[in-house]
Amino acid sequence: MRLCRFGDDKLGLVDGEFVLDVTQALDVLPACRWPFPAGDLFIRHLEQIRARIGAIRSTAVRFALADVCLHAPVANPTKIVGAPVNYHKHHAEAVANPAVFSAEHTRRIHEVGLFLKATSSLAGPAEGVRLREPKRRTDHEIELAVVIGRTADRISREQALAYVAGYAIGLDMTIRGSEERSMRKSADSYSVLGPWLVTADEILDPAALDIELYVNDEPRQKANTRDLIVGIAALIEWASAFYTLHPGDIIMTGTPDGVGPVKPGDVMVACINGVGRMTVPVSAA
Ligand code: MN
Repeated sequence: MRLCRFGDDKLGLVDGEFVLDVTQALDVLPACRWPFPAGDLFIRHLEQIRARIGAIRSTAVRFALADVCLHAPVANPTKIVGAPVNYHKHHAEAVANPAVFSAEHTRRIHEVGLFLKATSSLAGPAEGVRLREPKRRTDHEIELAVVIGRTADRISREQALAYVAGYAIGLDMTIRGSEERSMRKSADSYSVLGPWLVTADEILDPAALDIELYVNDEPRQKANTRDLIVGIAALIEWASAFYTLHPGDIIMTGTPDGVGPVKPGDVMVACINGVGRMTVPVSAA
């Protein structure tokens, strides 16, 4: 299934060029009071919601995809995990451009470890990216985003993919400079997730997906997830060794080479085959 959050926080089932309004399926969610359970309620109860969608889809109201605003398909992750320099060619471009990339950027992922982005940086394609430090270089980084489906604490890589709810396109927007990654990558709207969640059963091999990013129709990044240095299962193993991953937590798996700056007025188009395509405008904050 391809599930989106659209318009006024409606739940949508994407069907070709249309979205079916299946918001009513959220009625299966339990009523909650503070303190809320960790993670994203929608993702935590995804199986029950999918069953309910199956029962109501034939009577759902249908909208043209082109007419709706798409928001991030996850609303309440506890963590957005990032994988630094996880493609060899991106490491090479960082080493070759010391004026742009910090010295930290030239170290290997196995030495640096993973980083966290503020969950408040999460945005959908409809919100777009709002440049927070317009005088500084801010780069696009397209990444395969993995959404965790169930509580994962010290999971082996052999078991890891069973903990994945699905996949989406991630943009790990980044201000270049010397500060910690967690600061430079955590501005509001700097973690774009969309255009929808593709449930894991639809992606036969997440390690064989073409990913591409265009800015104003100009090709900037093009790669395949087979070239990830630390693969998806190993990222889940590594992250969950250090902290429990909760339903809805997002792992941005790393960006390939071709990163480059964006400016207000630019339009990014990001594609991952099997997942989808999203258009993301860039504006001044
Ligand atoms: Mn990144």
